[in-house]
Amino acid sequence: MEKYGKIEEAVKGDTIDLFSIFLIIFIFVAGIVGYSFYLKEKNVELSKANEGICPKCNQKTIDLVDVRGSGCSPKIITYRCHNCGYENSFTEQSGCSI
Ligand SMILES: [Zn+2]
Repeated sequence: MEKYGKIEEAVKGDTIDLFSIFLIIFIFVAGIVGYSFYLKEKNVELSKANEGICPKCNQKTIDLVDVRGSGCSPKIITYRCHNCGYENSFTEQSGCSI
């Protein structure tokens, strides 16, 4: 009987642990999915901006207003649309190989 009690305790402990693990995994996965959606959106906007098209109003009215960072550090590129006022900054990894 003592043996059963121990098993039950262990199972109960595992249930709680599994739930916390599940919760952590769920939050983690949700975070990754959200982040990848954000990155995908950013990539679409950046490729459009690189072509000179505003991602918001689809007009060729977007300008490169600021570039920060040089050499091996990532570049921060800011685009602004003078038609709808859209403005966004993008981080671009520089192709630096040592
Ligand atoms: Zn625009």
